[in-house]
Amino acid sequence: MEGPLQGILSREVLIEVNDRLAEIQSREGDEVLTLLCECAGPHCVERVTVVPRRFVAMREKGEPVLAPLHHEPTS
Ligand SMILES: [Zn+2]
Repeated sequence: MEGPLQGILSREVLIEVNDRLAEIQSREGDEVLTLLCECAGPHCVERVTVVPRRFVAMREKGEPVLAPLHHEPTS
């Protein structure tokens, strides 16, 4: 995900990508998921690590996956 795709992904796309990444990594038995920061910042290249159970809880609550000091985009 380095390079040209960075900075043009909308929040909705980031959520879809992360759901897919989580699915794949969970299936592979990874104990920690490596996901993309969902702040949708134009220059954000941060990766966020989270345990699968926490990720599920975040999705249930509608919380975004964010790197430290990154903020949910305001709508
Ligand atoms: Zn970010």
